[in-house]
Amino acid sequence: MRRAVRDAETLCRMLDLPIPPSASIAAAVGSFPVFAPLEFIARMRPGDPRDPLLLQVLPMSAEQAVVAGDSNDPLAEHAASPVPGLLEKYARRTLIVATGACAVHCRYCFRRHFPYVRSRSEEALDAWLVRLHADPSVDEVVLSGGDPLTLGDERLGNLLDRLDKIPHLRRARLHTRLPIVIPRRVTRRLVARLRSTRLAPIVVVHANHAREIDEPVAASLARLVDAGIPVLNQSVLLRGVNDSAAALEDLCRTLVNARVIPYYLHQLDRVAGARHFETADGVGERLIEELRARLPGYAVPRFVREIPGEPAKRVLA
Ligand SMILES: *Cc1c(COP(=O)(O)O)cnc(C)c1O
Ligand code: SF4
Repeated sequence: MRRAVRDAETLCRMLDLPIPPSASIAAAVGSFPVFAPLEFIARMRPGDPRDPLLLQVLPMSAEQAVVAGDSNDPLAEHAASPVPGLLEKYARRTLIVATGACAVHCRYCFRRHFPYVRSRSEEALDAWLVRLHADPSVDEVVLSGGDPLTLGDERLGNLLDRLDKIPHLRRARLHTRLPIVIPRRVTRRLVARLRSTRLAPIVVVHANHAREIDEPVAASLARLVDAGIPVLNQSVLLRGVNDSAAALEDLCRTLVNARVIPYYLHQLDRVAGARHFETADGVGERLIEELRARLPGYAVPRFVREIPGEPAKRVLA
């Protein structure tokens, strides 16, 4: 992560692309800076301004558009958070925003304006544990973020050990993009750590395009699967990135070949700055129909939209 590219000019220069005027970049970036690791940039095609990986990380002037219906908190997460960094929005599962750090900054991220707390504080951790202890109906904790694998093995391990001691918890799910963007993060030691507690681990990764999954990524996913950890993928339907049957078919096929189950295809949340990625619901519905005609049933993700305040996602197709 230390070697990641943190500005649009460098990114464009590395890919032999014209450098946009600095004022327009600065305005688009706002408070959500560019962050792209070299391993991810290496999978982009030089000279192609429409590259589907590049579009996910390069700020566009369209991000400045003020659109009715957009929000800094599109999923009303503030209202679902009884203590900072803990969200009770889904039935019987509690979500912990374990860190604000990510290994890549995705321009369409619905938490791009999230008021991350410094989770380093022991106080925050204690408050999460008190809350989890108090509700025996919760049997799953979702470690989210940010990206929980940006935590070091030791801090992540300590967190898992503390969660292990809450008797009603049975599963620990990690939502992470690290196996995709910096596949070396998935070391044998990390895998062993995930298997070292009583809690059943589940890993949900996030890839939107088949080109994100190269050899090292497939190997990192294999390390998890070989250890008996279920690995699922969630994607976001993104205009210009994966809004075609061919692109989604290729993604799903590549995932199942890597023994990863395509889980969700998310309809984009209406977060301020991302409307240029949006497609109509009908587009996603037709794409899923098309995928059903082309792929085995288990390789077709559910097309879902998150409705604030509802205890589960709404399945659109
Ligand atoms: C939907 C969602 C969850 C909950 O996932 P389920 O698999 O529906 O339990 C957690 N985190 C994020 C970011 C989600 O979009
Ligand atoms: S990795 Fe996930 S949380 Fe981080 S910026 Fe991308 S979509 Fe958002």
